[in-house]
Amino acid sequence: MKSLKAILTSLCLLLTFTSCAGGGTTAVSSGSEKPVSPAGQNDAESQTAQPAKLLYLGHASLRITTPEGRVIYIDPYAGKQYDAPADLILVTHDHFDHTQLDKIKRRADGCRVITYKEALVKGEHKTFDLGYVTVTAVEAGYNRNHNVKSCVGYLLTLSDGVKVYVSGDTSKTKQMPELSALHIDYAFFCCDGVYNMDLKEAAQCARLVGARHDIPYHVIPASGDKFFDRERAGQFDSPNLLVVEPCEEILLQNSEA
Ligand SMILES: [Zn+2]
Repeated sequence: MKSLKAILTSLCLLLTFTSCAGGGTTAVSSGSEKPVSPAGQNDAESQTAQPAKLLYLGHASLRITTPEGRVIYIDPYAGKQYDAPADLILVTHDHFDHTQLDKIKRRADGCRVITYKEALVKGEHKTFDLGYVTVTAVEAGYNRNHNVKSCVGYLLTLSDGVKVYVSGDTSKTKQMPELSALHIDYAFFCCDGVYNMDLKEAAQCARLVGARHDIPYHVIPASGDKFFDRERAGQFDSPNLLVVEPCEEILLQNSEA
């Protein structure tokens, strides 16, 4: 009987960490070694001790869960896992593949929505200190499909010090070399090569920014239900390359971890 119980327990754990198809918990991994997070996350005390998590929903869509359990969506469009109530929604620009806010059905009390309109006012990039995260808008655009005046990227600094940069839709920006002084932990770079910079330019940008982990996103143009290309992402030329696939959730750890 004991062995049957052990088998059932193992089976439950296995099911907990399967794919995102049903909108449940996904595999949690971190860095290139990608360890799976411990079970038992429903316990409130252990949740507060958890590092932040980042779920890649595909294309340029991300969901970050902070150490406090706050939920941040960025550029909602791809994927299905929009069930967690939003505390913050960030939008980099107004193209359809970044602005499907209707996918987020539930919003927490006091949910903030910050788009490029609030983040870039009269040429000035704004900073928002929300307590659990500080969001700083940074330059984006710089190509014929995206105007610098109506596009932003974001730098998020979580309460545990982890810094995440999302490029938004862009080619190389003048500001990128300055970002290296910030010691960014996780940097996302668009690289579709049609509407934005290509893999080669994105890799150059990654060297300028100098993050600990370079993650390709917006890897292909938005079309139909294909939101990623694993092979293309793997061609991103960076020694710090971290390929995160749609539905994959990684732990966000700062450099001391
Ligand atoms: Zn786009």
